[in-house]
Amino acid sequence: MLNFIIMQIPSFIFQSDLEKSKAMIKFYSLRRQKMGVKGLPKKGISKEELFERMNEHRAKDADWRKARTWSLVYYAEEDILELAKSAYLNFFSENGLNPMAFGSLRNFENEVVAMVASMLSGGESAVGSMTSGGTESILLAVKTARDWALSKNPELKNLEIILPISAHPAFEKACHYFQVKPVHIPLREDFRAEVEAVRKAVNKKTIMIVGSAPCYPYGVIDPIPELAQIALEHNLLFHTDACLGGFMLPFMKKLGYELIPFDFSVPGVTSISVDIHKYGYSAKGASCVIYRNAELRKHQFYVYADWPGGVYASPSMTGTRPGGAIASAWAVMNYLGEEGYLKLAEETMKISRQLIEGINQIPGLAVMGKPDMSVFAFGSDKLNMFELGDLMEQRRWQLDRLQNPPALHLIVTPNHSKVVKEFLEDLKSLAEQLAKKGKAEVSGMAAIYGMIGTLPDRKSAQQLVLNFLDELFKPKQ
Ligand SMILES: *Cc1c(COP(=O)(O)O)cnc(C)c1O
Repeated sequence: MLNFIIMQIPSFIFQSDLEKSKAMIKFYSLRRQKMGVKGLPKKGISKEELFERMNEHRAKDADWRKARTWSLVYYAEEDILELAKSAYLNFFSENGLNPMAFGSLRNFENEVVAMVASMLSGGESAVGSMTSGGTESILLAVKTARDWALSKNPELKNLEIILPISAHPAFEKACHYFQVKPVHIPLREDFRAEVEAVRKAVNKKTIMIVGSAPCYPYGVIDPIPELAQIALEHNLLFHTDACLGGFMLPFMKKLGYELIPFDFSVPGVTSISVDIHKYGYSAKGASCVIYRNAELRKHQFYVYADWPGGVYASPSMTGTRPGGAIASAWAVMNYLGEEGYLKLAEETMKISRQLIEGINQIPGLAVMGKPDMSVFAFGSDKLNMFELGDLMEQRRWQLDRLQNPPALHLIVTPNHSKVVKEFLEDLKSLAEQLAKKGKAEVSGMAAIYGMIGTLPDRKSAQQLVLNFLDELFKPKQ
């Protein structure tokens, strides 16, 4: 799932023709805005000019405020955003690295973790940590599983975690960083993990099983109770990735939605990741990883007692931890409370329903599976979805592209209420336009989008993306 890499990677880099792809990368790099920065400016630049320049740079950014984006930014209301910002600025300089120096941040973090744990039926023994985001929460959960397994049996080698293919790439990243092998599980027709395949994949090297609530691509909850049961039977850890659902599902349950159980009420679930900077609506840089008990969490902490600079102890992956992110999460959660989140969840689900029904009514388009929440993909057996994505982009709609099979993707937030009608009208007229055009003459970028997933050599695809990233993170003269 390459489109998780910080942005939507233009698919021309998946061309089977290597030389052509390289040329396209060059072309794309030149097309980008010229920054012209070589070194530190000799003299400082005035505040006015800097802000003017920043706004210039921003002019062509995706317009989340006008609800043109369907991922990356979770915006509910101005009021909540303003509160999240002021709380952040209020603790702009404080550093969560030393909980003794800033008791305020320690209290905020402990309270945030306790609130999230209680949302997840964590009970008295549940503990956790705040992290910089879902990726760090997941990296930590995998690292904890590895060290927990090694503490029981230091001889273990070539550890494995069992991962539905819809699980977030942060797990792949964790495996890559910590030298654990991901064992991939296919999905059923309803896009949920295949339970029997998980059962078959368990072996002596397995340390953890993963399920999502819901998964990012299709917005469906994996059969967590059955999967966690397998973990329980084999004395393995089980992680629920509720990065996306952590601040929706508990409130949907209260609103009466029938949901597959996913939290600590399910026997066998040992850890859960929840992003506060998604449906929690706090400032970016806020997520939680929660464990069933403190014994597990100990394997997450890091201590180095012999440094001349002092005894060094750190709960998570980062050293310095921005106080603003912790304060913002604490403030927004207390500001909204259960009542606030219930209202937002209800509104979000109402908009999702309108969109799902609207999309299913458009000839040729269909929502994939039965999404449990406010995240879903839609595809077509007739239309080229990548071409449709391009056309939508020309009307300034930013949609994630999914692959295998090709689809477009929506993450719905309360801010989208104002664009439901316009979005569906645009989608309908562009789908009609495409249908008229017929299948034969797919052109431009979309022709190349079609290559995604069909490129047999995944290694060179990976290499091309690496080169692309390298080009992206270079200033242009
Ligand atoms: C967003 C997300 C993550 C990763 O979170 P980041 O904050 O982007 O690091 C992990 N899992 C799921 C299901 C997500 O939606």
